[in-house]
Amino acid sequence: MKDESPRESWRDATKLVREGMSRSPFSETSEALFMTSGYVYGSAEEAEEAFSGARQRFVYSRYANPTVQMFENRLAALEGVRFCKGTASGMAAVFAALACQLRAGDRVVASRALFGSCQYVVAEILPAFGIASELIDGRDLGAWEAALSRPAACVFLETPSNPMLEIVDLAAVCRLARAAGARTVIDNVFATPLLQHPFTFGADIVVYSATKHIDGQGRSLGGAVLTDDQDYLDNQLVPFLRNTGPALSPFNAWLLLKGMETMELRITRQCANAGAVAEQLAASAAVKQVHYPGLVSHPQHDLAMGQMTAGGTVVTFDLPDGKAQAFRFLNALATIDISNNLGDTKTLATHPATTTHQRLTPEERATLGIRDGTVRLSVGLEHIDDLREDLARALLAARN
Ligand SMILES: *Cc1c(COP(=O)(O)O)cnc(C)c1O
Repeated sequence: MKDESPRESWRDATKLVREGMSRSPFSETSEALFMTSGYVYGSAEEAEEAFSGARQRFVYSRYANPTVQMFENRLAALEGVRFCKGTASGMAAVFAALACQLRAGDRVVASRALFGSCQYVVAEILPAFGIASELIDGRDLGAWEAALSRPAACVFLETPSNPMLEIVDLAAVCRLARAAGARTVIDNVFATPLLQHPFTFGADIVVYSATKHIDGQGRSLGGAVLTDDQDYLDNQLVPFLRNTGPALSPFNAWLLLKGMETMELRITRQCANAGAVAEQLAASAAVKQVHYPGLVSHPQHDLAMGQMTAGGTVVTFDLPDGKAQAFRFLNALATIDISNNLGDTKTLATHPATTTHQRLTPEERATLGIRDGTVRLSVGLEHIDDLREDLARALLAARN
């Protein structure tokens, strides 16, 4: 395989199309799909050298695979760090990024506004292995300071958060964590690898669900852990991944590579559509409140725009009359689909209180700002006028 030399000067859009390409002797234009679990050796000596580490080569696809490696190299270049490991899903990435570095007796501090499964990992799974966790209001720097005044191994957060799009001050929290000797793990899914680069704010580790905007077409699960920390990579992450096996399938890695080629176009249009939808909803008397970091009315708008280059592709809003009205709204949508997925080309709407956050108690949902009338929209690539018409019609139909 011939490695194309990475070019430092490439802009994101170019990296997304060209970075990480490794051509086989067939000189293909499109990244090849190496659908193989194993690799053969020319001699017994060659196999011995591969296993001793004397010869760098592929030995087994649970460890590494050429197509998976192209995906990893492309995403690492986009984030400007040296190391990326692909995983079977976003949750596999989150769990590996945390579990590989934590030991019984350690303590994790996390923002409480987390994706549902991430909240479960931090609040339920890690404590079952003797790892204490504390969930705090991620918007409150005083709460981070207080929580980090006691020993902590690790900080975990997402920004913007699902589904209320709360913002955490990345530079400030990374600084506090570093001073406290805690590693930061940032779930950057809602921001996408184009709108926010947590490493530039001091993050140690970034995780993605590639299922969302990276594939972007609702086809495949996938995830990734990124870092520039060689010690973390060599002594914690890689041994954990190799031996527990949440490997990314070569086929899915290939879909993700193809997804990345159109990502800049998709994210640009989806952010524009989301901004227009947010303004439409904010101007509607039928809507109680709109949550979108790109709107000046978002209480953390300035912070958001200081660390993101656009407002993102998700818009959340509250209808005044609770679950019944939210359900009438969802059921009246004709173009937009009801789905809990996000980052797709298709605009998707969900009712967090009865789907993604159903497991929480009403009190826990209230603490997170999730109301019975809250609806989350993942805005896609349809023509903005078709989205506007569908939303206006459904808002009208949902009136009392
Ligand atoms: C979807 C998502 C995950 C989990 O990713 P999967 O690919 O579904 O496993 C984690 N964090 C956030 C913020 C997500 O949106």
